[in-house]
Amino acid sequence: MTALLEIRDLEVAYGKIVAVKRISFSVEQGQVVSLIGTNGAGKTTTLRTISGLLRPTYGEILFQGQRIDQVPAHDIVTMGLAHSPEGRRIFPRLSVEENLRLGAFTRNDHAAVRADLDAAYDLFPILGERRKQPAGTFSGGEQQMLAMGRAMMSKPKLLMLDEPSMGLSPIMMKRIMSTVTELQKQGTTILLVEQNAQAALKRADYGYVLEVGKIVLSGTGRELLSNDEVRKAYLGED
Ligand code: ATP
Repeated sequence: MTALLEIRDLEVAYGKIVAVKRISFSVEQGQVVSLIGTNGAGKTTTLRTISGLLRPTYGEILFQGQRIDQVPAHDIVTMGLAHSPEGRRIFPRLSVEENLRLGAFTRNDHAAVRADLDAAYDLFPILGERRKQPAGTFSGGEQQMLAMGRAMMSKPKLLMLDEPSMGLSPIMMKRIMSTVTELQKQGTTILLVEQNAQAALKRADYGYVLEVGKIVLSGTGRELLSNDEVRKAYLGED
């Protein structure tokens, strides 16, 4: 069986700084896969390269068995790969609904887009209640919901989430993480990048630990949560 996403020997550099050092990993259809690591480990760089926003200096990226490492970013979205970026990147002056519609920019099936707006409002009712409100007035958690809702508007097969729990209260974080499980149940495959190892591994079918550009550990979410090194380095245990 081919993996939905396969990363082979991926290297990404900013000039002379090599941020990602020949990593390999895969995401199987239907799974939640977590990529954890501390600041500067290379997590965001990896996601931006998969999305086509950065180009690798070495290696291959395959989506549904097809090379995508030289495909333009907008075509990668059309192929079914969506990215909810770090810091959310919503458009503050646009309304909630306008932000969501931007997520469907690759599509012209208007009735289906309308149905997907309704699906986003079902997933996050507060977005529906405040559909006309400028997104910049939203709290961090609400903006995270909007960023996830917007990414889902392209009807992705694979949704990549970059630190969705960043800056959120524990309650809001729980809400966002339970949505990850809900989206998985609805059939979306998810690649979840997190510094919050506990939250990310609890929900992961499989996980990878990235340290200064290299994968140093991998295993099922459960295995990594009970791994001594992970517990010491990421869960703050002695
Ligand atoms: P964080 O959780 O802090 O976002 P990260 O794991 O996502 O960390 P990256 O943002 O991918 O890490 O950064 C990996 C390395 O690449 C870091 O050493 C960072 O300083 C460097 N880096 C990131 N972006 C650039 C850039 N535009 N130019 C130069 N170096 C960069």
